[in-house]
This record gives sequence, C-alpha cells and structure tokens, in this order.
Amino acid sequence: MMKKTLTALTLSLGLVLSFSSYAKNNVVVVATGGTIAGAGASSTNSATYTAAKVPVDDLLNAVPQIKDLANVRGVQALQVASESITDKELLSLARQVNDLVKKPDVNGVVITHGTDTLEETAFFLNLVVHTDKPIVLVGSMRPSTALSADGPLNLYSAVALAADDSAKGKGTFILMNDSIFAARDVSKTINLHTNAFVSQWGALGTLIEGKSYWFRQSVKRFNNRSEFNIENIKGDALPLVQIVYGSGNMLPDAYTAYAKAGAKAIIHAGTGNGSVAKNIVPTLNQLQQQGVQIIRSSRVPQGFVLRNAEQPDDKYGWVVAHDLNPQKAKLLAALALTKTKDAKEIQRMFWEY
Ligand code: GLU
Repeated sequence: MMKKTLTALTLSLGLVLSFSSYAKNNVVVVATGGTIAGAGASSTNSATYTAAKVPVDDLLNAVPQIKDLANVRGVQALQVASESITDKELLSLARQVNDLVKKPDVNGVVITHGTDTLEETAFFLNLVVHTDKPIVLVGSMRPSTALSADGPLNLYSAVALAADDSAKGKGTFILMNDSIFAARDVSKTINLHTNAFVSQWGALGTLIEGKSYWFRQSVKRFNNRSEFNIENIKGDALPLVQIVYGSGNMLPDAYTAYAKAGAKAIIHAGTGNGSVAKNIVPTLNQLQQQGVQIIRSSRVPQGFVLRNAEQPDDKYGWVVAHDLNPQKAKLLAALALTKTKDAKEIQRMFWEY
C-alpha cells in the first residue's frame, strides 16, 4: 500500500515537473561579446577591462536562475567589442536571428552585445526581421568580474522578457537596468554608469523580478510591419552611408571625401535643428545633384529635425531624419537605398520608422 502511494506520488511529481518544463517558453541566447562578456584584472576594475572574453555558456551558467524562466540554450555568434561590428557581422547576425525566430520551437531570442553600438544592432533587427516574437538585446556597463556587475540581472531580465508572451508583437527591445526600451528611440547617453540607456520618449515598460510591466507602445513600423526584410537583402554589405558631425568653423572636405569614397548618402549630424553652415550648403547641393542623398539629423540628443526649418529641404531635395539620431539614420538610409533613390520616398520612410 505504502509502496503504491509512493509510486503514485513519484509519478505525479514527475508529471508536474515535466509539465512545468513543457510549459516554459524556449529562448535562445545569441552572444556577440561586449562588456557583458568582459573580464577585468580585479573585482574593483569596473571600467578598465577587456570586452568580449567570456563564452556564452559561462554567461548562462553564472545565472542559473534563468532556468526557472525558460528553456534556454546559448549560441556564440561573435566575440567582439561592438564598435568593430561591420555590415558583414550585422547582416550575418540578422540572418541568424531571422532563422531562429522562424523555428516553431523558439519563442524568443536574446542577444548579448556590447553597449557601444547596441542601439544600432537593435534598430537594424527591428527593421529587417519579420516576426512577432520578442527579440531582446542586452548588455552591461560593468564586466562580469566587477563588484556589483550589472550583466547577470540584465541577462535574467532579458530572458524573462524574451520568454514573456505579453512582449509578442511589441517590437525589438533593449533591456538595460530594469527598463524595456523600443529599439528605435533608445540611445546610450553615458559611458560610465549603469543607467546608460535613455529614450527621450520614455521606456515602454519596466521589468522587475522577472515580470514585465508595460506602459507604452511604439506607433512606428517595425518587424512584421516593416517593408524591409533581411530575406531580400543579398551579400554582406549595405549601400554605403557615412556621418559628418556639424560644428562651427567647418570645412566641407569630409562630405566630398565620403562621396568620393562611394557614399550614397551622407548623414549631416548638424547643430541644433540639423542646421547647415552657409559655407557648406553649396557642397551639399552639388553632392545631391550628383545623386548623393543629403539627410539632416542633429547632434542634439533630444527633439527632432523639423523639415524646411533652418534649411529649405523641399527646394534642395534633402531629407530630414525626424527624431532618429545620426547612427540610426545611417542604418535606415542604407536600407532605404536598397529600395529607392528617390528623396521623397526616403523621406516617407523616415516619417514611418
Ligand atoms: N566597447 C565595448 C563594446 O561596445 C565595451 C562597451 C560595453 O559593452 O559596454 O562592446
């Protein structure tokens, strides 16, 4: 009798355990390097260290609690500091993420990444991967070896978000420091503190103790609603776009040099409202007439560039980047150029994304 009861208990416990593991969502963690995989000489080295050292399995093993959130497996896609990511790595990562989200047994993807260009990779995936599954990019400001390293909790929260059905259809995210940001408008704003990422329009939500709390949604086009699709982009380079930073006492030489190097669009990271010094205007108009798109963004981190204010964009055939910062404008311009050379059409894309 006792034996029978024990067997029944063991069986039902087994069933509960296997049901609970069946009920968990499957999340793939794609590692690319950065500080979250960084290692310093001592635990007090919070800012002096080597990025991209620790392999993905060690990152996952350091946070065993993630097994309670999801069935997690790791993939080492790259092991780099993110400032060294080129089109080749970006396109290959997008193809890898695209393949993963197409798999029926993958519910969400987390990408661990250096924070320097985290916003760029996130925005690119937001534009080219067609899915409603959560894609969550995460980094850390302190290396894994530091006192109060922020990577483990960021990773835990990123997995929680990727495994959360309530995140479906809301876009590609950056999860940092308990905040859930939309990829399109979040930016790294300080290079030393753990609250490095900010969006001028606010976070979409917050993630506390493994649970997402939502407050906003983006009205822009992303993922399934995007007209760009990684499956239609061939090769390992995007149309060349470069950024020129605006300041007083500027020379026009950088614009012409980039055009000579093959740039198909130049992002002018202008002062204020993307303003252009009067000695630069003739060069930009000349380049525009040669077929180089001139796109006015701003070096000011907040607000947005107002069309036909400061400069007559309609008359010159220039484009404004709206609220996209120069580095994000660069990516949207490159994707736009895979489809059109028409400045009006490119402007439409800048309004919609
Ligand atoms: N520069 C490195 C990178 O972007 C380290 C910075 C970081 O991850 O916070 O990968």
